[in-house]
Amino acid sequence: MDRQQDFVLRTIEDRDVRFVRLWFTDVIGTLKSVALAPAEVEGAFTEGLGFDGSSIDGYTRIFESDMLLQPDPSTFQILPWRGEQERTSRMFCDVLTPEGEPSPADPRHVLRRVLNRAADMGFSCYTHPEIEFYLLQSSQPGPDGKPVPVDSAGYFDHVPGGVAQDFRRHAVTLLEDMGISVEFSHHEGGPGQNEIDLRAADALTTADNIMTFRTVIKEVASLNDHYATFMPKPFSEHPGSGMHTHFSLFEGDSNAFYDPSDEYRLSTTARQFIAGLLHHSVEITAVTHQFVNSYKRLWGGGEAPAYVSWGHNNRSALVRVPLYKPDKAGSARIEYRGLDAGVNPYLAYALLLAAGLKGIEEGYELPEAAAEDISALTTMERRALGHQPLPGTLHDALRIMEDSEFVAEVLGEHVFETLLRNKAQEWDDYRVQVTEYEIKRYLSGL
Ligand code: GLU
Ligand code: MG
Ligand code: MG
Repeated sequence: MDRQQDFVLRTIEDRDVRFVRLWFTDVIGTLKSVALAPAEVEGAFTEGLGFDGSSIDGYTRIFESDMLLQPDPSTFQILPWRGEQERTSRMFCDVLTPEGEPSPADPRHVLRRVLNRAADMGFSCYTHPEIEFYLLQSSQPGPDGKPVPVDSAGYFDHVPGGVAQDFRRHAVTLLEDMGISVEFSHHEGGPGQNEIDLRAADALTTADNIMTFRTVIKEVASLNDHYATFMPKPFSEHPGSGMHTHFSLFEGDSNAFYDPSDEYRLSTTARQFIAGLLHHSVEITAVTHQFVNSYKRLWGGGEAPAYVSWGHNNRSALVRVPLYKPDKAGSARIEYRGLDAGVNPYLAYALLLAAGLKGIEEGYELPEAAAEDISALTTMERRALGHQPLPGTLHDALRIMEDSEFVAEVLGEHVFETLLRNKAQEWDDYRVQVTEYEIKRYLSGL
């Protein structure tokens, strides 16, 4: 037993913890949970907890289905919405093979591998997500077939007595009770749409925090008889839900992205990192935008960035360099606006960080910053300026990803092949649907 494991065992005793949930994710980023009796936790620390991986998306084939969950004691937290008596707690787990090796199917391990590479290069990686979601009356659509939002407010609106601000207040309190610091929260552009931004943390902690965040938001919504969704684009006429993420690299205590002598105060390392993100952004799109519906957000306006570009404080660009206070070297960072709220955070961060690190290793050149609104340009103008479009559909994205050595290497063959198979099936299911749009558009005219 190490010190952290000891601490967990003592806290379980001292605080009357009755259930210990072990959390991990499948390849899509769905949270999986198994509840342990407190007496079993010591054994789970020393030997792991056996489970049948064959029924979890992307884990194992039937003949090698025994897997082990190894709880990570540094992630132990009480679930504050479960009450003060007979408390429930959780720990994130690493997934191991029966031989005790990291499972190649575990998204958390995919991210750890990239972070270890970053550490070999002397960097620690920090991330800070801006998570958008819609708060709805119910998980069921209304009589017109559309989801029903809880309000009709818009960007930064303050609605006295409004449902959304009480909701945010409740959610932020629970998140902070679980050790997840919130930087700020506000109403977003769509009716019922909200955003909560988490404070920067190391990338693995952030990915764990995003999984916790989704659970907390859904719990709070359900406590209030509402429903929260991270679907990338629930309404065609309103903005989609993004998960813009700010990245920074530190070498010891110093921010490797900062250079006071540069026009944008960006170091060469930062420029190469951005160049890496841009260079690989097209081939990683099937992971950064993993659902059929993701492409409705990407191409449906609402400030979603559909072209490969970067800019200084340019909200139409895929990578934005925010204005930060020049004297605050520590806050130098770059924002990747491509992610939507439905991503698997472990896999998406693994690919984005690996892309940025590759830019540094290979010394990629950064193209000119885009000063104009890229979505307002004509196709010819965009082409002349070199702003390549991101894929238009999940199908296009998969066709590109299947030839990518970069993605195969970062994800590992197992996750790579599983995702390609799983997503091809999703596309096949979708493409045979005859939609309401088609009935309206074609039935009477043809
Ligand atoms: N909702 C927009 C998106 O899907 C982002 C709006 C914003 O800039 O925060 O990316
Ligand atoms: Mg936003
Ligand atoms: Mg943003």
